[in-house]
Amino acid sequence: MKKTMLFFTLILLLIFLSVNPVSAHFMTDRSKHSVDNGEIRWGTYHGSTKWTSARNTGITQWDNEGIINIAGDTTSTVEDLSFTDYSASDGVLGSWQKYTGADRIRFNNNYFNNMSACERNKTALHELGHALNLDHNNVAGSVMKSGYICQNFLGAHDKSDLKERW
Ligand SMILES: [Zn+2]
Repeated sequence: MKKTMLFFTLILLLIFLSVNPVSAHFMTDRSKHSVDNGEIRWGTYHGSTKWTSARNTGITQWDNEGIINIAGDTTSTVEDLSFTDYSASDGVLGSWQKYTGADRIRFNNNYFNNMSACERNKTALHELGHALNLDHNNVAGSVMKSGYICQNFLGAHDKSDLKERW
């Protein structure tokens, strides 16, 4: 490759990198999360979910990163998060909400009943991402991208956001 060619290639690469920064996506409000003392203890304060497989996949994936401990509530811990179900034609597959007593992740049976297991897993991963203060993004392969997506694992961007935030 000629030196001038290499020079222009480098310039183009620099321009590309500067206009396409894959920056972190946290919620503007840094207090919007379910993390308490470096962990999330989940339980049944607000009820339970029938989508235990999706719930467990979400918990295991985020917990395996080894940054925030996500474990079941015990008599000696305070519950931080519950998983419950509801049914409505509201266009929402699932949601995470700050709540008194414990925060809440709700799965919408209206859509979950017709979704594939991997779409349910991705939704559980997504809502837990909110519980970890992560916001939506449009990064391919990220569980924080909205919509019906078949995905059983965290994306590279999800892992780096978690690390950067906590
Ligand atoms: Zn969301």
